[in-house]
Amino acid sequence: MAIPSSISDPFASKFLPSSISDPFASSYQPSRISVPVKIEQTQLTTLRRSHCSTLKASMGSPGFTQQLNNNKLETLADVKDDRDDIFNDLKDRFLSFKKNVYMANPEQFENLAKVQVPKFMVIACADSRVCPSSILGFQPGEAFTIRNIANLVPTFESGPSEVNAALEFSVNTLQVENILVIGHSCCGGIRALMGMEDDGNTSFIKSWVTNAKNARVKTKAAASNLDFDGQCSHCIN
Ligand SMILES: [Zn+2]
Repeated sequence: MAIPSSISDPFASKFLPSSISDPFASSYQPSRISVPVKIEQTQLTTLRRSHCSTLKASMGSPGFTQQLNNNKLETLADVKDDRDDIFNDLKDRFLSFKKNVYMANPEQFENLAKVQVPKFMVIACADSRVCPSSILGFQPGEAFTIRNIANLVPTFESGPSEVNAALEFSVNTLQVENILVIGHSCCGGIRALMGMEDDGNTSFIKSWVTNAKNARVKTKAAASNLDFDGQCSHCIN
């Protein structure tokens, strides 16, 4: 489905980074909030899980991506029908957005096509249950957002990362007024961080969450009396 050119990239900015400097040297003080998660699995998720193969990204051999299992009973036609349903649903959602939001506010989106002036830079977890726009009601143009596992910000010394690039752009160029880090309960990334073993085994997830190793050490020291779930909650907070 082609996106109409008139709304092809409302977030494109005329700005270009004017300088490269340490974004952490700014006077901005990130705020941090924690969002509780108690959400049932959706029927859509259940549908996809029951009809699709499970894939696992892997750093080791034999391949970059391993196929773990297949539902031998399903037919290719079944899979295609389910996927058609899901993507037709997305198409309907887009057309609804276009009609009820975009077409209803042409001036707003014409302005957004020219420039973005968000007041917030948001760093949130990639978890599908904690979408910042859904939870905090951000509208297009309000929040420059980056999401990753466990809403982590690698240290400046660890080198370039997409988070640091996003911070540099939002602070130096967009000049956002607020930086918001959104943590949440039941975070799989935090559980991976707190539960990882020093056994030499590697994975992309383990390598990523190691960015928060200092938080793990501090949590283990400060909350050693708590069980695993308690330590995960302590680490988030
Ligand atoms: Zn999370």
